[in-house]
Amino acid sequence: MLIAANFKTNKTRAQTREYYRAVSSYIAENNIASEAMIFPPATALDSFDGAISVGAQNAYAVENGAFTGEIGLEQLDEFGIKTILIGHSERRHILGESQELLVQKFDYFKEQGFTIVYCIGEPLEVREEGSEVLIGYLDDQLEGIDLDYKNLVIAYEPVWAIGTGLTPSADEVELIHTALRQKIECKILYGGSVKTANAEELLALENVDGALIGSGALKVDDYCTILSIADSLNK
Ligand code: PEP
Repeated sequence: MLIAANFKTNKTRAQTREYYRAVSSYIAENNIASEAMIFPPATALDSFDGAISVGAQNAYAVENGAFTGEIGLEQLDEFGIKTILIGHSERRHILGESQELLVQKFDYFKEQGFTIVYCIGEPLEVREEGSEVLIGYLDDQLEGIDLDYKNLVIAYEPVWAIGTGLTPSADEVELIHTALRQKIECKILYGGSVKTANAEELLALENVDGALIGSGALKVDDYCTILSIADSLNK
């Protein structure tokens, strides 16, 4: 399984290094086979010791150039970063990234061979319209994305579940993941208020191949607990 942590705008470089150190020792001491992937803030990007897959939360689809406030391929290459998160709801809805821009980023980083964790998810008003509308909404977010790309991972993250403590029921998560599985062969992660208390139930569901976790992974002990839950499920 793949257990990814998104630090968002949390943690310094020193805190991130310490977190990686703790996770790497936990993995080694407990023979964890699940993959640990972490998206630190841009100031903490570094592959450090290599036991963890480190990814960028965002980058611009360019090698370098005049794009104030952005980082490009050159800056990622310097730290050996070959993984990127694209389409996170905070970038879609707070930073206003359009589907067109996301497809541009996807194509660029696909061309560079990156592992791409591509996020999709519906706001509450869409969910309230029922599963057919919801699945149509997710299909629109997949528009233009090469679903056969070999280094693709999809993260299904209902927007209303992110950082709220709310999650869809197990049946609802399974229904969406099963619908996605009909068109997607790659790993499908669930994200949205995953924590130590609900990780086992969510990770055990059919067609859930891992999790993308924000607040529930900020404490390293919690992240390690979720890694070991994932491992014990032996999927
Ligand atoms: C996320 O940011 O991708 C996320 C799932 O956040 P949280 O776990 O806090 O809901």
